[in-house]
Amino acid sequence: MYYPEPLAKLIEAFTRLPGIGPKSATRLAFHVLNMKEDEVIDFAKALVSVKRNLHYCSVCCNITDTDPCRICQDKTRDASVICVVQDSKDLVAIERTKEFDGYYHVLQGAISPMEGIGPDDIRLKELLTRLSDEKVKELIMATNPNIEGEATAMYISRLVRPFEIKITRIAHGLPVGGDLEYADEVTLSKALEGRRELF
Ligand SMILES: [Zn+2]
Repeated sequence: MYYPEPLAKLIEAFTRLPGIGPKSATRLAFHVLNMKEDEVIDFAKALVSVKRNLHYCSVCCNITDTDPCRICQDKTRDASVICVVQDSKDLVAIERTKEFDGYYHVLQGAISPMEGIGPDDIRLKELLTRLSDEKVKELIMATNPNIEGEATAMYISRLVRPFEIKITRIAHGLPVGGDLEYADEVTLSKALEGRRELF
């Protein structure tokens, strides 16, 4: 490596991020070098803070800096509906539509035999606990419209059948094989509106 060690280390750190190759990493490192010192300190603080101050909500498993998270704390929401999503980015995508005022459950993943992710590796136990404790009437399965998302939705709907809760799946219109977080607000609102019962 031809760069001085601190710079080389920073380039190396950037290459560990997804989608960042050596060229981009070098460009980013030089950018940091040219930033004002307090800007760099704020940036470093934000990186550390995301690790130190965030954890999973003990109710819905969303990423949060408070426990319960702000959504679970909000008593004005409709407690009869829980929308099940794969990750916090999907929750934010649905929140942005402003069409949903129930609560969420964030699985933190999807069942994927290919990647060795089974039902015990996602936040299912927590969901079942909620269904026994809370007065939930409908569970909206808003997992991604791809193989893993569909498999997860089917698995959960079978699992919760004894609870006699209405289980719905968000409508297609969402691109199949796609990712919920990238769907635009109109498509996502329509998908929520047109949800159908799974069984
Ligand atoms: Zn929560």
